[in-house]
Amino acid sequence: MESLSVLDMFKIGVGPSSSHTLGPWNAATRFLETLGNEVDAVRALQIKLYGSLAKTGAGHGTDIALMLGLSGEDPVSFDVDAIRPTIKSIRDNKQLLLDASHRIDFDPEHHIRFLKDEMLPFHPNGLEFCATLSDGSQRNEIYFSIGGGFVAQENQSPNKTSGSVILPYPIESALDLSRWCKQTSLPISGVVAINENTWRSESETRAAVLKIWEVMSQCMYIGCHTDGILPGGLKVMRRASLINKRLLESADYEDYSGWRQAIRDNGSGFAYTLDWVSCFALAVNEQNAAFGRVVTAPTNGAAGVIPAVLQYLLVFREGLNTDAPEEDLILRFLYTASEIGCIFKKRATISAAMGGCQAEIGVSSAMAAAGLTECRGGTAEQCLMAAEIAMEHHLGMTCDPIGGLVQVPCIERNTMGAIKAITASQLALHSDPASAKVSLDVVVKTMWETAQDMSSRYKETSDGGLAVNIPISLSEC
Ligand code: SF4
Repeated sequence: MESLSVLDMFKIGVGPSSSHTLGPWNAATRFLETLGNEVDAVRALQIKLYGSLAKTGAGHGTDIALMLGLSGEDPVSFDVDAIRPTIKSIRDNKQLLLDASHRIDFDPEHHIRFLKDEMLPFHPNGLEFCATLSDGSQRNEIYFSIGGGFVAQENQSPNKTSGSVILPYPIESALDLSRWCKQTSLPISGVVAINENTWRSESETRAAVLKIWEVMSQCMYIGCHTDGILPGGLKVMRRASLINKRLLESADYEDYSGWRQAIRDNGSGFAYTLDWVSCFALAVNEQNAAFGRVVTAPTNGAAGVIPAVLQYLLVFREGLNTDAPEEDLILRFLYTASEIGCIFKKRATISAAMGGCQAEIGVSSAMAAAGLTECRGGTAEQCLMAAEIAMEHHLGMTCDPIGGLVQVPCIERNTMGAIKAITASQLALHSDPASAKVSLDVVVKTMWETAQDMSSRYKETSDGGLAVNIPISLSEC
């Protein structure tokens, strides 16, 4: 049984795509590790992109991610403001400093090949590294970016850090999770917290998850205070900062906590709250589209849903019957959400190239619905029900990004995922899960079957849907 940690589901990285940016970046890092000391002997390097990576990789920054990964940079810590100058330097000089130590000739125009008509059988997101060493020998490796920044090789575990441990509460399905909650009388977050102790101490997990929230909230704050047009050629105007300005017209604040207080103080009511949920989600995904620092939740394209719903809970505190410290709410929310994401990853997919947008926005909405429900005092069964409701109403959602960019419909779609999560949570809290007609496991199975039946045109290829019905050509992007 595959074991996944909360830190597998929430990974700090760089936008705009977990499968097309973070995954290839991680694949490049793994290729360097495979080369080891032979890095210094590399004379030439070529990378081939297949399937969905070839079709939408240009818009998703796959080539940029590969160059940064091959340069030995870390997606968690690399200064996102340095991305443009670093890539410009590689392009202008046609040279790359492999693993930050060995300079090779490298012209991305020629050495990164987008093979749009070729697909590898294991997964639609295939990439192949072919290095020629100074003695003429070759080192070739094929990787697959399988969603959420995870990278796999055929017949190997996708998960290097978490995969092989035995957990006290192994969870493969919603039924397993429900059983453990009943046996232990713990909420979902309690079961997850004990499992996490297998990998690291409780305090280390707490610190790492709170760091995840810090990155999410900083991303939201920066997105709410950045104007302009998003990169890529589609000329999409950033809207989070416009909404932020309108809603906080006369507010005076200087920093993140002042901003949150201003949100609380400057309005109330359904429309005001709704505007903020949308604004939070837009802010994260505008940052994502602009190669900003984001957290996979469970992917980059869907990175705004969970932060928007959690921020909504913390700022407006609607339905909260507890005076628990904010940190505890953050941890409970993210632990619960992560376990729901793990179930989808194990039994279906979180890759849009495999399952369309139901696998991204649908999964993130289900995760957020469960997290919100637990923080509002829902039972484990109500959390599972909330996740089920949220996914049930994303079933069949296709992936059709215009121009191969993670902008339209992706950015707005996060607002919809967040609102559906809140609605699903409220419905579940008003319901008796024992009378539910559809279980979470059944909806996960249905999502996976729908994914398999879905035409490849709707799986992150930009070959169908909005991507072909909007009058813009890829060359304009
Ligand atoms: S349409 Fe959905 S799945 Fe596709 S790239 Fe956009 S957010 Fe991701």
